[in-house]
Amino acid sequence: MKRLPLHFDIEAQQGEARTGVLTTRRGLIETPVFMPIGTAGTVKGIRFEELESSELDAKIILGNTYHLWLRPGIDVIRSAGGLHRFIGWDRALLTDSGGFQVWSLGALRKITEDGTEFRSHVDGSLRFLSPEVSMEVQAALGSDIVMVFDECAPGEASHAEAERSMNLTARWAKRSRTAFDQLQKTGADTGQLEVDELSGSQALFGIIQGASHLDLRRNSLEQTINIGFDGYAIGGLSVGEEKSVMFEIIDEIAPRMPKESPRYLMGVGTPEDLVEAVARGIDMFDCVLPTRNGRTGQAFTSTGKLNIKNAQWATDSRPLDELCPCSVCRRHSRAYLRHLYMSGEMLASILLTHHNLAFFLDTMRGVRQSIRSGDFPTFRREFTGRLGANGE
Ligand SMILES: [Zn+2]
Repeated sequence: MKRLPLHFDIEAQQGEARTGVLTTRRGLIETPVFMPIGTAGTVKGIRFEELESSELDAKIILGNTYHLWLRPGIDVIRSAGGLHRFIGWDRALLTDSGGFQVWSLGALRKITEDGTEFRSHVDGSLRFLSPEVSMEVQAALGSDIVMVFDECAPGEASHAEAERSMNLTARWAKRSRTAFDQLQKTGADTGQLEVDELSGSQALFGIIQGASHLDLRRNSLEQTINIGFDGYAIGGLSVGEEKSVMFEIIDEIAPRMPKESPRYLMGVGTPEDLVEAVARGIDMFDCVLPTRNGRTGQAFTSTGKLNIKNAQWATDSRPLDELCPCSVCRRHSRAYLRHLYMSGEMLASILLTHHNLAFFLDTMRGVRQSIRSGDFPTFRREFTGRLGANGE
């Protein structure tokens, strides 16, 4: 039997929501899973020991192809033996393709059939990213899951504009697949591992685009499935469209995605978005919110968002979240965290980031347990019900 880069086994399902185990060459990942973002080879504000601790136990993190390619560059990472060794992280890594970051540069980029030309935000040099270059960079990084190089249309893109972009993404997906397969044969993947039952190679995920047009999304899904990937992602959401539009697309697309493959919703979202997307059949998530908002003084709690800057917390001896078992909530008060934040102490960002990640990862643990025990609808109702309590 042909060995594959991944195995995905669904253990329980309730409605569209499912829980299972994704077996990668760097360990087992229980799904649904939240993946913290490690843009430049670091999950900002937290050490890997803490991410690995039983309290957080993040099984997989993200790396950004665009950022790592520009700095420190793939020669540095190749000479270290790949991204895992370079950063000191032995668990699974997923890298995005750089498509979204380049798209975010807006006017600074030029898109052609070949790829995207843009100016580096690091040194202003002119750079060119294409499906082939992205696959080469991701092979040098040696991530365990590679994303195809795609183009993202803005949420409010017209049908014609979104269609052009979606078809370009499909052609780029085909080129990504070809370049990726070639690179696996030539041993370019620095993360190759001998593993029982698996091929030990990188896995490649396809991305469904089409902005907010359902017919284009369905067309994109079909073209992506026809090429064939180890997993499938929905991209181009959370880019300015209404929330209702986002859920309409997930409702339409997720149940049509291959059932036996992991389904990844890229760049989404808040804790309630995660739970709602799980209810629609999504297995994997990534988002900057817990880390980025942690640095700007915002905590995610079981009763909603909490802004630590608010004067009302100045003498509040309660933890950030009274239901949270994390080490920050066990030890520190809102008053102390507010004091740290107002004094510009770096520990404020570190502690808020820790709590936020604990909250996201715990939420997913609760989601998995509830699907296994057949209580997901109750979990979803109670979780969403509590969130409004802060009134923020
Ligand atoms: Zn906490």
